[in-house]
Amino acid sequence: MAEKADALKITRRDEDYSRWYLDIVDRAKLAEDSGIRGCMIIRPEGFAIWEKMQQTLDGMFKDTGHTNAYFPVFIPVSYFSKEAEHVSGFAKECAVVTHHRLQLTESGEITVDPDAELSEPLVVRPTSETIIWSAYRNWIQSYRDLPILLNQWANICRWELRTRPFLRTTEFLWQEGHTAHATADEAEAEARQMLEIYKTFVEQYLAIPVFAGRKTENEKFPGAVHTYTIETMTQDKRAIQVGTSHNLGTTFSKAFDVKYLSAEGTQEYPFATSWGITTRMIGTLIMVHSDDRGFVCPPRIAPLQVIGVPIYRKDAEKEQVLARFTELQEQFKTTKAFSFKVDTRDNLSPGFKFNDWELKGIPLRLEMGPRDLANGTAVLVRRDTGEKISVAQSDLESQIKTLLEDIQVNLFKRAQEFQQQNLHFVETYAEFQQQIEEKAGFYVAYFDGDSDDEEKIKEETKATGRCIPFDLQQGTGKCFYTGRQTDRRVIFARAY
Ligand code: AMP
Repeated sequence: MAEKADALKITRRDEDYSRWYLDIVDRAKLAEDSGIRGCMIIRPEGFAIWEKMQQTLDGMFKDTGHTNAYFPVFIPVSYFSKEAEHVSGFAKECAVVTHHRLQLTESGEITVDPDAELSEPLVVRPTSETIIWSAYRNWIQSYRDLPILLNQWANICRWELRTRPFLRTTEFLWQEGHTAHATADEAEAEARQMLEIYKTFVEQYLAIPVFAGRKTENEKFPGAVHTYTIETMTQDKRAIQVGTSHNLGTTFSKAFDVKYLSAEGTQEYPFATSWGITTRMIGTLIMVHSDDRGFVCPPRIAPLQVIGVPIYRKDAEKEQVLARFTELQEQFKTTKAFSFKVDTRDNLSPGFKFNDWELKGIPLRLEMGPRDLANGTAVLVRRDTGEKISVAQSDLESQIKTLLEDIQVNLFKRAQEFQQQNLHFVETYAEFQQQIEEKAGFYVAYFDGDSDDEEKIKEETKATGRCIPFDLQQGTGKCFYTGRQTDRRVIFARAY
C-alpha cells in the first residue's frame, strides 16, 4: 500500500516548482526519460493529448486551404550554407550524420566504420525551410503556381544545452507550415492568419490565455523579416513561447534562387512564411493549469473527459452498481456526448482511484454507490475546483455536458486572472530590475533599444523581450533603457 501511495505523491509547487513539474510528467505517465540525452519517451497518456492537438489543428489548417506533405529528415549541410543568417542561428544546435555503417571489431565491439564516411554530412532537420525551398525551385515557375500552402507533421532535432520534458527537448514533434506567395502583403497576411489560428486553438482548446505580438530583433527567427509569437505565463510567473509564425520575405527564395514569371512577364522572387507549434504545448498545460494534486487537463483537449468510479462493499452491491455504469456507458457511447470510462479495477479502493484519476487530470469524476442508486442520484466531482455536485440520474448526461463546458471556461478565466495580476507596467529600468527580482511576472515598458541593449538587459536581469504585444500599444513614452521617446511597448520576462 505504501508503494501504491508513493506512486501518487507529488512535490508541492511552493516546495520545489521544477520538481513539481517533473513529478507530474512522471506520475501522470505523460512521458518518461529515455536515457538518451534530452530525448523523452512520450507515453500513451501523453501521446493521446498530442493526437487530439494534431487532429484539431490539422482541421483548422485544412479549413484555411493548407495541405500536408512530407520532406526528408536528412538535409545536406550545403543546403544550410546557402543562407548565412539561418545557418548561424541553427549551427550550434545541429545533429550531423557523418557515416552510414557500423562495424564489428575483432574484439567484438560495435563501432562506426571509418570507411563509411558520407561524402557530404547530413543534418537531422532542425527546421525544414532549406530542404523545402530547394524543392520549391522545381515547383514554382509562374504566378499560376502560387500560392503554395503546405504543412508537414514531423519530428525535429535541435541539440539543446538545457532540456526539460515537453518544454525543451532535443527531439520534439511539431508541425511546420511553409508557404510561398506572389506578394509581400500576402505573405504578411498569411503569417498573421496562422498566428491567429494558434491563438484561437490555444485559448479555446487548451484554455490558455496568450499575449500575441511581434518578436523584437534579438528574438526573431534566423532569416525572418518578422516573427510573430504567442506567449503565456506559468504559475511561477515566467514566460513560455507557445508558438511562432514567421514572415520570411524573400530570404529563402533568393538563397535557393526560386523565381516566378509574373502576369506582367517579369521574373520575381516569391515571398515565404513558416510557422510551427510543438509538443511543448503539453508541458505548457502542466505549467499553466496543473496543481498540487497533479495534472489538470482542459475538457476540450482531454482524451478521456469523465471517469466513473463505482462504490460498493458487498458483491450484490457491486453487481447493481456496475450494471448501472454499463448502462450509462452504452448511453454515452451512443450519444457521443463525451468520452467516458469506468474504473473497474477491483484490487483498489475508491479513495485510491479518486487520487489516481485526479493525478492524471481527468476533468470530471462520476461516483455512484448503492445509496445514490436508491436515491436516484449520482455524484460528480470537478477536477478544477474539487467541488462535489449531487445530480439526478435522469439529468446526468446534460449536467455532465454543462459541467465540462464550465470547467473549460473556468480554467481559462483562472489563468487569465493570474496573468493580469502578474502583468506590471514600469516606467524606469531601476523599477523593473527591483520588481522582477522581488516578484517575477511580466513587465510592459516603452522600449526602443537595439539587439545590444536587449543582450545587456538579459545579462543584467535574466529577462528577455518576449514580444511587442499587439494589444498593448498605446501612446508614446520614454524608453526605460535608452531614455528616448518611443511608441513601442515590449513585454519583458524571464522565460523557460
Ligand atoms: P521555431 O521554428 O524556432 O520558431 O520554433 C517553433 C516553436 O517550437 C517555438 O515557438 C517553440 O514553441 C517550439 N520549440 C522550439 N524549440 C523547442 C524544443 N527544443 N522543444 C520543444 N519545443 C520547441
